[in-house]
Amino acid sequence: MNVIDILTPERRSWNMSRIKGQNTGPERKLRSMLHKSGLRFRLHRKDLPGKPDIVFPKYQTVIFVNGCFWHRHKGCAMAYTPKSRTDFWQAKFERTIERDARKTKELRALGWKVLTFWECEINSEPESCIERVLTTFRESYSLTPRISATKSTIE
Ligand SMILES: [Zn+2]
Repeated sequence: MNVIDILTPERRSWNMSRIKGQNTGPERKLRSMLHKSGLRFRLHRKDLPGKPDIVFPKYQTVIFVNGCFWHRHKGCAMAYTPKSRTDFWQAKFERTIERDARKTKELRALGWKVLTFWECEINSEPESCIERVLTTFRESYSLTPRISATKSTIE
């Protein structure tokens, strides 16, 4: 009997959710740092493609926190390929990469900015992750047309 067989269904689904990674350690860490920086956001908005982990409606920006293993962080030690059942893993990884690319494209087409952070980045250089978020917001602010000016022109 292998380990999976002796887990109860509840336990098993808990394990899977840990592996699939909603509310994972890195995501919680990033969220709490964003919160400390005074930023407010929404989580896992189901009405958006790919259910982004963190959503800033005001800045039309979403964040995905990607696990390095599942989402195949290029050149990262955590993105190794298991030695057995290589084909199975390869196919699985390809589907994930394809899905990630598709949801990013869909979000951009809807006018959202998409930021992706890797778990190893959040763990090793959290400050630069926060800086990247802030830079994106500053850019989107300077690009926002001045609505009041436009209005007065129309009137
Ligand atoms: Zn990584």
